[in-house]
Amino acid sequence: MKHLLGAHVFVSGGVDSAIDGGESLGFTAIQLFTKNNNRWFSKDLTEKEINAFKEKKSKSGIKAIVSHDSYLINLCAKDPENLEKSRKSFLDELKRCELLEIPYLNFHPGSHGGQGEEEGLKIIAESLNIAHEQTKGYKVKSMLEATAGQGNALGYRFEQLKKIIDMVDEKERMCVCIDTAHIFAAGYNIKDPKEYKKVIKEFDDVIGLDLLNCIHMNDSKKELGSRVDRHDHIGKGFIGKEGFTNIMNDKKLEKVPKILETPKGKEQKEDLENIKTLLSLVKK
Ligand SMILES: [Zn+2]
Ligand SMILES: [Zn+2]
Repeated sequence: MKHLLGAHVFVSGGVDSAIDGGESLGFTAIQLFTKNNNRWFSKDLTEKEINAFKEKKSKSGIKAIVSHDSYLINLCAKDPENLEKSRKSFLDELKRCELLEIPYLNFHPGSHGGQGEEEGLKIIAESLNIAHEQTKGYKVKSMLEATAGQGNALGYRFEQLKKIIDMVDEKERMCVCIDTAHIFAAGYNIKDPKEYKKVIKEFDDVIGLDLLNCIHMNDSKKELGSRVDRHDHIGKGFIGKEGFTNIMNDKKLEKVPKILETPKGKEQKEDLENIKTLLSLVKK
């Protein structure tokens, strides 16, 4: 099996530095922030930056790129001002992806802040409809990330992701990302081979595997069903090598880009180590 494999990469200076980073580490899939992830807004991308990004990408071995949105964005924020800001910022994120020809904007559905789960899901879909309405004809897809369900975070059941998609008008603009640490903490047992098969079947039945366009490959520092989101190195957490063996040998997931979001230093040596571990699990 030939996997599209890599990690979240750093941007230092121009956004094109993400391509340099990914390429130098031999990644075939990368994730990046197109702006500071702890800010609502940042400077517009310059023509020069956009061209450099596209040119470097076309010459690189990187075949899959995902953008992760700012951590501040909450598409079902209870506070109206916060919601407004989130919607504007999300729109900006979509625009940046479109300019850079990044096909996926990954985001956490949102945290309902006590408004209730059903209400939260409705507001998220409304936010997406507003964003899509203002970006007619865009190619970038809005990629819902499955969450651990910490606090009031939504998206910890496949059914919740499906409900959001069902309420979005332009369904062809939606897709999904599974984060292994998140779904494990949310109670999906991907460690046990038998249970793993059931989880993937459930995803296929509820959402459809054709909508799964990325997997965040993270081991979990917390137990199954803990609803706590803490990433660990591959094989060092509660999912363990067993769980990642299931994924790395699943023909159904062969073409889905797999991206690490595990702890790392500037040099990203830990990523290379984790990738080595993942590849060692592939059965010949
Ligand atoms: Zn995320
Ligand atoms: Zn993730």
